[in-house]
Amino acid sequence: KKNVLIIGAGGVAQVVAHKCAQNNDVLGDIHIASRTKSKCDDMVASVREKKSMKVEGVLEAHALDALDIEATKALITKTNSQIVINVGSPFINMSVLQACIETGVAYMDTAIHEEPNKICETPPWYANYEWKRRELCAEKGITAILGIGFDPGVVNAYARLAQDEYFDKITDIDIIDINAGSHGRWFSTNFDPEINFREFTGRVYSWQKGEWQVNKMFEVGKEYDLPVVGKQKAYMTGHDEVHSLARNIEGADVRFWMGFGDHYINVFTVLNNLGLLSEQPVKTAEGLEVIPLKVVKAVLPDPSSLAPDYTGKTCIGDLVKGSKDGKDREVFIYNVADHKDAYNEVGSQGISYTAGVPPVAAAMLVATGEWDAKTMVNVEELDPRPFLAQMSKIGLTTWIRDEQGERQIF
Ligand code: NDP
Repeated sequence: KKNVLIIGAGGVAQVVAHKCAQNNDVLGDIHIASRTKSKCDDMVASVREKKSMKVEGVLEAHALDALDIEATKALITKTNSQIVINVGSPFINMSVLQACIETGVAYMDTAIHEEPNKICETPPWYANYEWKRRELCAEKGITAILGIGFDPGVVNAYARLAQDEYFDKITDIDIIDINAGSHGRWFSTNFDPEINFREFTGRVYSWQKGEWQVNKMFEVGKEYDLPVVGKQKAYMTGHDEVHSLARNIEGADVRFWMGFGDHYINVFTVLNNLGLLSEQPVKTAEGLEVIPLKVVKAVLPDPSSLAPDYTGKTCIGDLVKGSKDGKDREVFIYNVADHKDAYNEVGSQGISYTAGVPPVAAAMLVATGEWDAKTMVNVEELDPRPFLAQMSKIGLTTWIRDEQGERQIF
């Protein structure tokens, strides 16, 4: 058994807490820490209310500013945690990682590190922060699994699975993320508007023909016909996993596509062109200094409030092209999740669910030793099979569409 400290108390953390509780026979004590302790208390109450704990055990809430490395170290030590699942904002990654290295415990996160005041980093983004600690992790035998949500995360494992089992040579990996669900609001982002808009105001990086290509957001669009969700328009977007897959899957072009409706694009374009997505402060005529993006966030729905009314499905997967036994082929490896099912089970919408299940499956594999890498890794560097099998047991199945049609493989 390995005790877990969950950092963050947002939509993804809610899923992580329930899934850790459902598997606390493997994982042991569960501690939840965030800046706002009341949010952690609510999560503890939700886990108790849904009777998610598999066996009787410790489940506690704590207040923590995870930018404070000493305070984070103290909490890891006090709670005797051996695995830290960081599902807080991406701004805290490097300080939480540092606390894990200094206390000798396993670290995992679901997004690349970001500095609050830097919109667009130079690629590959992992090299700017996380990878600088890789040697130190290896030296100290620290397991650090980067980007173990759905995308990044599961899609990296899909790419490795394709390489191991379906191809001799891969030429293209197109990661496609479609949310065909409906939240019923006039406009809302599905997660923190600040993080959501930041993803789309910067440049779009993709790895093609052995180099980084730069595009503008919504410049390159394509219609895909996918299982369950059908025909969907998706746009090339920058995303974490492109940055590690470009390094780790040799010779392949790597692109990321996200589905957007015309309504989202219209609203985004208006806000962006008016300057309302800027994080630079402006002064009003009354002398009030405000940050436009913060104001937009304040007037939009809180993404966690969308969960009860969310309906429909998500489909996320890797469209992989290349050759096997001298023949060209194409496969789509994917998962389909349902918003309503996620809400009924753990009180969150489908996007949080798909991001929250993978780190718990990974934590279980660290606990059993199968994924205890003792160094820093991106997901595609690990054997995908035990991970996809574990995920299937705890809530997310894996499917393939190839020459023989569609079928479940995990
Ligand atoms: P939320 O914005 O809902 O929650 C973030 C949490 O982080 C909040 O509870 C917040 O604290 C906490 N936090 C922020 N700063 C600190 C700090 N200094 N110390 C302690 N806690 C802090 O995010 P989500 O749940 O939607 O997402 C969580 C993470 O998962 C993000 O990094 C996101 O990018 C990533 N993600 C990854 C996906 C994937 O598939 N890979 C998909 C979706 C999200 P508080 O509220 O207590 O003040």
